[in-house]
Amino acid sequence: MKNETSQVFTARWVLPITAPPIPGGWIRVAGGEITEVGGESVPLGAVDLGEMALLPGLVNAHTHLEFSEFTEPIGQPGVSLNQWIGMVIAARGQASSLQKHQAVEIGMREMASTGTVLAGEIATPPCDYPDGSPQLIPFSEVVGLDPSRGNERFAAAGAMIEVNGQAGISPHAPYSTPWSLIERCVDLARSTNRPLAMHVAESPAERELLRYGRGEFADSLKSFGVWRDGLFPWGDQPLTRLFQLLSRTRRSLVIHGNDLSDSEIDVMARYPNLTVVYCPRTHCFFRHSEHPVARLQAAGVRVALGTDSRASNPDLNLWKEVQHLLHHRIDLPPEDVLKMATVNGARGLGNSKHGELRAGCSAVFGGVSTAASSVEQLFADLAENEFQLIQC
Ligand SMILES: [Zn+2]
Repeated sequence: MKNETSQVFTARWVLPITAPPIPGGWIRVAGGEITEVGGESVPLGAVDLGEMALLPGLVNAHTHLEFSEFTEPIGQPGVSLNQWIGMVIAARGQASSLQKHQAVEIGMREMASTGTVLAGEIATPPCDYPDGSPQLIPFSEVVGLDPSRGNERFAAAGAMIEVNGQAGISPHAPYSTPWSLIERCVDLARSTNRPLAMHVAESPAERELLRYGRGEFADSLKSFGVWRDGLFPWGDQPLTRLFQLLSRTRRSLVIHGNDLSDSEIDVMARYPNLTVVYCPRTHCFFRHSEHPVARLQAAGVRVALGTDSRASNPDLNLWKEVQHLLHHRIDLPPEDVLKMATVNGARGLGNSKHGELRAGCSAVFGGVSTAASSVEQLFADLAENEFQLIQC
């Protein structure tokens, strides 16, 4: 519907994401919302943004902003996950709450300046998030094999959910959060209708711990002094059982999903309320074997992208995750990669205002320089050129 205060923007390409790229397309905005997207007969008075492709603002489905002051990842590339966790715990232990708050602000500024408009953030209460961009969905982290620590973090998550209408809950990971505590987190997410996020299937060592109660992870837990008898193994088909449990929530993010069998992927595909969050450059930092993203997509599982934290990634620029995939995963259709960076993350986080260019969505979009005259050249330019939000 046309509006007297509306403004129209046109460019060489418009990428609605949930519809094919439109050469010479245009977007009408009014009152902070998109009211119309078109492809023919550009309305008179349109602002021509020129040799550019317009895309919705980016969605980073997984971050830990408290590590944003790190200038480089912790440990060397290829470090084992369990060793890296020990290094992160040591680094986290040294940070004061003021340093944590400053790190969050640094991370938010970095995400805003690189085009992220919505993010899923793993929060360690107490935390105080500044208003502004990007919009954050904080997931209060619950961790601890020791019952008193687990209970304390569960209570803190409940308190955060009470005061923050957006907050969800994050049982940290299968190796750090007992099954019974994960069940309590699922029950809380269900009863409060909040989202859940959990690191799952990060490595074969995690699977070995859950299936047999032994291996590198079991050794690390013992060396950290946190091992408790009776918590592992979980028994047969641990990840299948976990996905069935998480499916009871309204919405759950399965962070990483690096080590999944075909049958586990088929189980996930039955539950549209589960979204896998793939963190490509973090996955690369750990030198895990090839991520099953193509099989997940083929099975119909929603896959979103995340940067994870600066403890395993040199920056929080989600567009660099897109470019990493356009360069290194040429088996993935570029259109799918763009969905992972936008609409899939928004849906996974329960947001219907971001992630696409269509009537009713927020008028927050960005551009990438391109003079392409074909879709193939367009995607080649996206793989090379930076993404920047356009202030309109
Ligand atoms: Zn993470």
